Amino acid sequence: MSLAAFPDSVHVRAPGKINVYLGVGGRHDDGYHALATVFQAVSLYEDVTAYPADDFSLSVFGTDAASTALFADTVPLDDRNLAMRAAKLVASETGYSGGVHLEVRKSVPVAGGMGGGSADAAAALVACDALWETGLSPQQLDELAGRLGADVPFALHGGTAIGTGRGDRLNPALARGRFDWVLVTSDEGLSTPAIYAGLDDHRARNGALADDPPLSLDVPIPVLQALRAGDPHALALCMHNDLGTPALLERPVLDDIINEGLEAGALSGIVSGSGPTVAFLCDAPESAQYVQSDLTARGRTAVHVHGAVPGARIIAR
Ligand code: ATP
Repeated sequence: MSLAAFPDSVHVRAPGKINVYLGVGGRHDDGYHALATVFQAVSLYEDVTAYPADDFSLSVFGTDAASTALFADTVPLDDRNLAMRAAKLVASETGYSGGVHLEVRKSVPVAGGMGGGSADAAAALVACDALWETGLSPQQLDELAGRLGADVPFALHGGTAIGTGRGDRLNPALARGRFDWVLVTSDEGLSTPAIYAGLDDHRARNGALADDPPLSLDVPIPVLQALRAGDPHALALCMHNDLGTPALLERPVLDDIINEGLEAGALSGIVSGSGPTVAFLCDAPESAQYVQSDLTARGRTAVHVHGAVPGARIIAR
């Protein structure tokens, strides 16, 4: 195929995630903890557009001037950026010798426990493969995603899925209907490694050594039943996050936020992933809108989203 037939650009959208359930087991020798989690992809998206270029470069924007300025301080533009690493991985694996300019438009908060960087990486994998017409199979994309980070395979697939191992061994979970969530985001993120270390400290102080908990564990059956039934009331009773305690110890205001959301009528509220985003489950779109307005009136940054949504997909080329 001649160069002229290559697309001028490829725009891929990938979702942020929340952890409906997150159980953390013992720490393996490689430093990773055993996880049993249920991810749900939600309608807060990262948009990555890939343009042909001779070398590799990246620009990052938010949804407005203030968030763009914040991202300029918090998102690396070099090889530490997961989207950049994804692009270079596609090139090295396929032998593609050109480059790409990636324009990343972020809606997912940085270091928010919602896998924004992982969504960028998944989107960049799909965008570069389409731009360069390198023809990677779904299995090859999955394999590259797993190499980039534990949450990247899920961002590729989306939907609702059970994650075991480091969270990267995925099995789809049946989830009926739509779940309405209100997310309260924070401008200042939390470090994922610091929150895991906080969990180990907390367990040690309470008599359990970091590697005492089992090295493999399961998602409780009621969580899977509630998802399968599409029943937010049942799900609210069994949502759980083992990282909630260290996140609340690190950022006590999260406790106030959870109480405010419950007062406003949310069924349940948990810290998402390693925080500091708090996810409130609501029983219908209308109640979620009410909870969102109430939290906004209290000065919180609250957004109404729904799940489950698909993973990284091409929007335009
Ligand atoms: P984790 O996946 O570790 O739980 P998170 O979802 O809480 O992380 P991210 O926004 O994905 O948070 O990023 C965590 C850190 O990774 C940031 O502080 C940033 O320095 C770095 N990073 C690398 N690439 C990106 C990216 N494309 N977008 C945002 N942060 C990135």
